[in-house]
Amino acid sequence: MSALTLINARLGADAQALQTLYVEDGRFVSAPGAGAEILDLQGKLLLPGLVETHIHLDKACIMQRCQLSEGTLAEAIAQTRSAKADFTEADVYGRGAQVLEKAITQGTTHMRTHVEIDPQIGLTGFNAVRRLKADYAWAISLEICVFPQEGLLNNPGTEALLCEALAQGAEVLGGCPYTDADPGAQIRRLFELAVEFDRDLDFHLDFDLNPEGMTIGEVIRCTHQHGWAGRVTIGHVTKLSALPRDTLLAVAESLAEAGVQVTCLPSTDLFLTGREHFHNRPRGLAPLQHLHACGVTCSLSTNNIGNPFTPYGDASLVRQANLFANVSQLATEAELLRCLSWVSSESARLLRLPDYGLTPGCRADFIVFDAPSPAAVVAEISPPLMGYKAGRKTFERAQPRLIRP
Ligand SMILES: [Zn+2]
Repeated sequence: MSALTLINARLGADAQALQTLYVEDGRFVSAPGAGAEILDLQGKLLLPGLVETHIHLDKACIMQRCQLSEGTLAEAIAQTRSAKADFTEADVYGRGAQVLEKAITQGTTHMRTHVEIDPQIGLTGFNAVRRLKADYAWAISLEICVFPQEGLLNNPGTEALLCEALAQGAEVLGGCPYTDADPGAQIRRLFELAVEFDRDLDFHLDFDLNPEGMTIGEVIRCTHQHGWAGRVTIGHVTKLSALPRDTLLAVAESLAEAGVQVTCLPSTDLFLTGREHFHNRPRGLAPLQHLHACGVTCSLSTNNIGNPFTPYGDASLVRQANLFANVSQLATEAELLRCLSWVSSESARLLRLPDYGLTPGCRADFIVFDAPSPAAVVAEISPPLMGYKAGRKTFERAQPRLIRP
């Protein structure tokens, strides 16, 4: 039995409204536990832990092994494929651990990581990430989404390996239809496997700025056909940014009706798309604000760190929220709060986390900021000062201090 009482916690912009929260055995409870340790937050802002819905731990931090010349999606896939030939379990583990440790100190307490499965890498990446999941469970909950980055139907042997990983406990099945000659056929096969193994689906989809040739309709159709509402996510979907308003709103309404969710990956999408334009280069991000208004569950995520898909990254979800706000010209308090929700409460809804939040019964995963309001966390890219996982402190960050003459 371990108990913690948080006093003088601020949950919003109102500096006068300070609250007391109680934690016992890793969860928020409604009354203080016996012998609780007291933590005085002195009016600092308390938020639930951040939720990363889409990242690739297995191919992070490989920039020094790659050579970029075009900066395109095709080059990123090809460069990563050749780097992958030298991946070992220890190598994937080491690079994944670096990213996890960054993410933990940026306030992330839950993460869905995609892991590549194909006959070349086999289950090497999967086995490394499973060890990371166990070794870092004290600070972050990892869920593993296995997917065929090199194609499914074009790449014999991949499906059997995916099924093996699912049988060994991979929580989610991912897809990358644009890597197969017949994208619709990959989508249909993955739905069949998802039903067979009772898994949620998470696709990389419609990842360019040409409004023609969208595969989103096939995902929506299959979601209805299999009754998979609320269990299907599509990531990137940058083609949505190329649609005029009426067409976009019609697609958004069918996504909402089908229960298909959308993840925007701002760093990657801004880096890889639109390179065919020398001037007036489009921004090309899925317009989450319009999708949300039509009732689509959305999230913002990191996708990649330090590789040819995204040569940047500090694993800060707050920075991704700020980047999306900036590029999408969102600035009012309500808009910034919405951006924050896409890395926290809405992300948790997308991943169907049953016990997320600060109310009694929820897991005591929380972070503390020195910021005037939740909207200001996004506007100023505030770093968290400390974080807790299941009521146990997992990190702290010293405040910088001016040294005046
Ligand atoms: Zn991805």
